Amino acid sequence: MEIRIKVVCTSLCRSDITQWESKAQPALFPRIFGHEASGIVESIGEGVTEFKVGDHVITVFIGECKKCKHCISGKSNMCQVLGLERKGVMHSDQKTRFSIKGKPVYHYCGVSSFSEYTVVHSGCAVKISSAAPMEKICLLSCGAAAGLGAAWKVADVSEGSTVVIFGLGTVGLSVAQGAKLRGASQIIGVDTNPEKKEKGKDFGITEFINPSDYEEPIQQVVKRITDGGADYSFECIGDTGIVSTALQSCCDGWGVTVSLGVPKVKPEVSAHYALLLSGRTLKGSLFGGWKPKTELPSLVDKYLQKVLQLPLGFVLHLYKVSDFNEAFNLMREGKCLRCVMHMPK
Ligand SMILES: [Zn+2]
Ligand SMILES: [Zn+2]
Repeated sequence: MEIRIKVVCTSLCRSDITQWESKAQPALFPRIFGHEASGIVESIGEGVTEFKVGDHVITVFIGECKKCKHCISGKSNMCQVLGLERKGVMHSDQKTRFSIKGKPVYHYCGVSSFSEYTVVHSGCAVKISSAAPMEKICLLSCGAAAGLGAAWKVADVSEGSTVVIFGLGTVGLSVAQGAKLRGASQIIGVDTNPEKKEKGKDFGITEFINPSDYEEPIQQVVKRITDGGADYSFECIGDTGIVSTALQSCCDGWGVTVSLGVPKVKPEVSAHYALLLSGRTLKGSLFGGWKPKTELPSLVDKYLQKVLQLPLGFVLHLYKVSDFNEAFNLMREGKCLRCVMHMPK
């Protein structure tokens, strides 16, 4: 049930770097990172009927088997069969499809797209229109889709509401865009990088807060400009301390906080119970709650119809393996949104 894909474009996501630097044991190296990609089906394995050679696809790091309890439920995208793969192997047989001199080379999230060719379970690829530009559409494979889904599916932002977003990277800007398309009246972006102010406007941010410009806690600033707190707040940084700030920034009674970031340190969330007792809800989501096979094609169509824009930083054309380092450096220095890499032809 697997397909081999010729990777055309792949983008670098913060979680590739987080996992690469992770000190978790056992260390899964050597390993091929990369989980956001677009490509062309190069060959198909036994049992696969849904794809044919030449199909354009995007990869997904959580698949959809369409049979398990979660896939059948309308409430979840946490497939029990093709869920987030953390052990560096394929879902079906717990083995790898890459090796060097007989020794395994581990996968990442069942995708491993930093490679000219990769093998994925057919449930972890989504067929898309061949009219979709590969270098843009790979962003719907993770970051951009996660942000849009958090606004639309998880928070279900309503018209005329107030929204605050912590962190204006690809994910945060996509939340902003999702909120704007839903008709939110006030969309506040919080980021320590002043350059995000102008970028944010393009995606619907109506007010920008740089925490460095204020002496008081940021939740107080948000409360002041939203008459007691926003209707929705989103944590898109991957800092559990900011989850508490986001919870404090939304209003009593119906405030909803959605946590999307993947924390690099201190995974525990702490919050005063009174924040919940007074009616707030804290929700989390992986991949914006999208069921990838069922729902991603509609996002691709929205992009093609120019309803959506995709927050892209740089496009790099790779000529040799070491060119990857440039993308890693750009992301670590915070110099770009998503960096998309064209694989060598
Ligand atoms: Zn990602
Ligand atoms: Zn499933």
